[in-house]
Amino acid sequence: MTNAKKSLPIYVTQPLLPDLADFMPYLEQIWASKWLTNSGPFHQQLEQALCDYLGVKHLALFANGTLALVTALQALRITGEVITTPYTFAATGHALLWNGIKPVFVDIDPITLNLDPDKIEAAITPQTTAIMPVHCYGQPCDVMAIQKIADNYGLKVIYDAAHAFAVQCHDGSVLNHGDLSILSFHATKVFNTFEGGAIICHDAKTKQRIDHLKNFGFADEVTVVAPGINGKMSEINAAFGLLQLNGIDEALEKRKWVDTIYRQCLATIKGIVCPLGMGEKATNYAYFPILVQSDYPLTRDALYQKFRDNNVQVRRYFYPLISDFSMYRGLPSSAPANLPVAKKTAEQVICLPIYPDLSREQIEFIISLMVD
Ligand SMILES: *Cc1c(COP(=O)(O)O)cnc(C)c1O
Repeated sequence: MTNAKKSLPIYVTQPLLPDLADFMPYLEQIWASKWLTNSGPFHQQLEQALCDYLGVKHLALFANGTLALVTALQALRITGEVITTPYTFAATGHALLWNGIKPVFVDIDPITLNLDPDKIEAAITPQTTAIMPVHCYGQPCDVMAIQKIADNYGLKVIYDAAHAFAVQCHDGSVLNHGDLSILSFHATKVFNTFEGGAIICHDAKTKQRIDHLKNFGFADEVTVVAPGINGKMSEINAAFGLLQLNGIDEALEKRKWVDTIYRQCLATIKGIVCPLGMGEKATNYAYFPILVQSDYPLTRDALYQKFRDNNVQVRRYFYPLISDFSMYRGLPSSAPANLPVAKKTAEQVICLPIYPDLSREQIEFIISLMVD
């Protein structure tokens, strides 16, 4: 490898950015109308376009995914305890704490790395009101098993689907499962609006409540129906989303290509496991996690450091577990003995770079660091 190549940083992801010139007409329209936010024309168009593209009934845009999560919990008036996974991004747990809800962590399945449905029932108490699973890395949860438990115990299900843009399961969008799902359109996600997010729901009444909640609770000029928040997406972000949507299929195809090459190359490396054997439509290739096992010559952290030393900015998603953060550590469900699979996975995982413009040469360089 040449030094020049090594000096170019390869990030774990790179935002999808359409041609700047193509964005200008949208900006001119915003400047001409002077409608900058509060359910403007681009906001309305993007909500409809995303419903059509994703195959969902109702979608409310938000300023970011975290506000969507916080608001989703408010929309269903969730209180008490909520069962969730420790193997996720900080926002999943924080959204519960911001609502004064006690997270109850349940271990993950070693294959899907999602909440293990077989371990949910034992964590249910009289205070439990909901389950908040995550479609981790875009891999769908066992939505049928989770719904069955929720129905048996009268619990709501809110999916943190921040990774699951355009993911299908059981002949339709994965977002059609549960009571609500939230998406993130952060710059690091498969589809981005710089910052942004959404709640997906299944009926017009719930959509209206969510729309009120994200606009301070205003139902009309003089009527405030709930202690809402400001969760609105601006016209600039919505316009960017509309433009972005034109290129999304091509971007997903390119991600799939990267995923295929990684799998071919990694198949022969002893001690490196690709945990998710993903089906054609089951995922969006948002992430490429590998597990570094004990029969690999280097420890996970030594391999991580080797990548970093060579300017490959891999990330250890998700390490540490949420349950190891100081504000969660004291919870009974945070005990490591309660979460052995999550604990082990967090100690083995590295997410390799994956994004549409990653070249074969770059992929080969990344692989070379693992076999040398
Ligand atoms: C990115 C992410 C979020 C938060 O979304 P933001 O848009 O960054 O607020 C929530 N949950 C998970 C699992 C995420 O990866």
